[in-house]
Amino acid sequence: MEQRSDDFKPKYGEFPCPSCGRIFKVESSVRRHIRYFCGKKPPPITGYTKYGEDDYECTKCKKHYKLFCTLKRHILHECDKPPKIECPIVGCNYKAKMRDRMLNHCRMVHKMDM
Ligand SMILES: [Zn+2]
Ligand SMILES: [Zn+2]
Ligand SMILES: [Zn+2]
Repeated sequence: MEQRSDDFKPKYGEFPCPSCGRIFKVESSVRRHIRYFCGKKPPPITGYTKYGEDDYECTKCKKHYKLFCTLKRHILHECDKPPKIECPIVGCNYKAKMRDRMLNHCRMVHKMDM
C-alpha cells in the first residue's frame, strides 16, 4: 500500500514560517519573509562606550549617561542632530534639541513659571 504524506503538508493557501509561525497565503511570500524579514531586529545602538552598569559615554560628544535608555535617546534623537526647538523669548537665540531642555532653559534663564 502506498503511504500518503499529504496530511502532513500545510493546507493549500497556508504557508507557515518555520521560525516564527506566521502564516502566509503565497509560498513566495513566506520565502521572502524568511529571507529578508523574519527574525530581523532593529539595528543595535552603536557609538557608545560602556564603563560600568551606570556609566555610558557617547563616543561622539563624550557625554556621560547613567541610564542606557537615556543614552539611547541621546544617540537616536539628540546627538549630531541640529537643534529644532527655539526659545520663545524674543531676542534669545537659544535653541534646544529636546523639549524638556528648552523648558529648563526658560525656567533657569528667563525665570519663567512653567
Ligand atoms: Zn518568520
Ligand atoms: Zn552624543
Ligand atoms: Zn531663551
